[in-house]
Amino acid sequence: SQPLSQTGAAVKAADRAHVFHSWSAQDLIDPLAVAGAEGSYFWDYEGNRYLDFTSGLVFTNIGYQHPKVVAAIQEQAGKLVTFAPGFAVEARSEAARLIAERTPGDLDKIFFTNGGAEAVENAVRMARLHTGRHKVLSAYRSYHGATSTAINVTGDPRRWPSDNGSAGVVHFWAPFLYRSPFHAETEEQECRRALQHLEDTIAFEGPATIAAIILETVPGTAGIMVPPPGYLAGVREICDRYGIVFVLDEVMAGFGRTGTWFAAEHWGVTPDLMTFAKGVNSGYVPLGGVAISGAIAETFARRPYPGGLTYSGHPLACAAAVATINVMAEEGVVEHAARLGETVLGPGLRELAERHPSVGEVRGLGAFWAVELVRDRETREPLVPYNAAGEANAPMAAFAAAAKKNGLWPFVNMNRTHVVPACTISEAEAKEGLAALDEALSVADEYTV
Ligand code: PLP
Repeated sequence: SQPLSQTGAAVKAADRAHVFHSWSAQDLIDPLAVAGAEGSYFWDYEGNRYLDFTSGLVFTNIGYQHPKVVAAIQEQAGKLVTFAPGFAVEARSEAARLIAERTPGDLDKIFFTNGGAEAVENAVRMARLHTGRHKVLSAYRSYHGATSTAINVTGDPRRWPSDNGSAGVVHFWAPFLYRSPFHAETEEQECRRALQHLEDTIAFEGPATIAAIILETVPGTAGIMVPPPGYLAGVREICDRYGIVFVLDEVMAGFGRTGTWFAAEHWGVTPDLMTFAKGVNSGYVPLGGVAISGAIAETFARRPYPGGLTYSGHPLACAAAVATINVMAEEGVVEHAARLGETVLGPGLRELAERHPSVGEVRGLGAFWAVELVRDRETREPLVPYNAAGEANAPMAAFAAAAKKNGLWPFVNMNRTHVVPACTISEAEAKEGLAALDEALSVADEYTV
């Protein structure tokens, strides 16, 4: 057989010749050829091993290659590898039951999709049909997926090239005290002003034109901004007052990431629709979905729901979800994520913030943390400008390169690094990652004023 490095070279060569990558200028990327992964680590064909502080794209909540979930997928493949969505299938029924058991309130019906964006597409469709209204309100600092409606609902710059202007989406500012859009100085002020701003937006858009407000419970890629106490309850109240469907997007924040099954639990809020994907089966097989309230399910009790997907509730994906949820329950993964945030990641990151002038703020909960890198702590000027590319992004590129050199694979978005390891990462592994981060932050420090 070929030496490993030759296999790696062949994998890379075929990738460069034929794989067209997401979000990338094809000639300017250099994807690492991955040979394998287990738990919180992955490795290349050259023998380099990395501690993964990204969980892929924040989806391997139980880590890589969990033996029980791999076995469940193998077993399902042997039993019934696929079946059309219009039938009752054991793995699908059981996945829906386990999910509905954990979703808040009366979100008891599950519409399955293949991922997060399709979940958002269908949540918006349900809200529009349920209300007979068209407009959707969403936050500027948000990401909801890359399909047509989902990318228009998205607030961050990934929307710009796909903004079709007629999607019926209006963006507003959600609370973010560190870079307050409302010039607030306390969380309480930020919360109150953010709710007033939302009320004003609704008044000027016309409440009777608005089908849905969609928010990430804790915005993910846009910066892990934990909402202030009272904000989500306030949005819930506003939605109730105007007959607007409240959609919480838990594609990233759900399934243990924040130290609860769903992030909404932290604030005791029940939306009308909740989207999920990623952690539902740790991305072992593509799966997403929408959890639906009793009232919205009732809309489609005697009237057909006009949407569907060939692979809705794919047995292989659902079997992976059943196994993942059972593993998470048996192994206490959700509680472990909560404890990690409270005793290792939170304190560890705050300690780094004290020593590194490049750290403006750390925030988060569970296994879901953002480190905001700045050029100047006083002015909070970001380490790189908003949406920087090329040379302007050099400081963040240097930071990421330093982390990788130390065996840590970091999540980097604009001027932030997110610490989003598997929810199963051990305390010792998390500390090893923080030590590598410490060294990489010293490189970021060199770019401060
Ligand atoms: N919603 C949120 C909050 C996300 O973080 C993502 C992906 O990162 C999506 C939706 C889109 O999910 P997918 O990439 O599975 O379509």
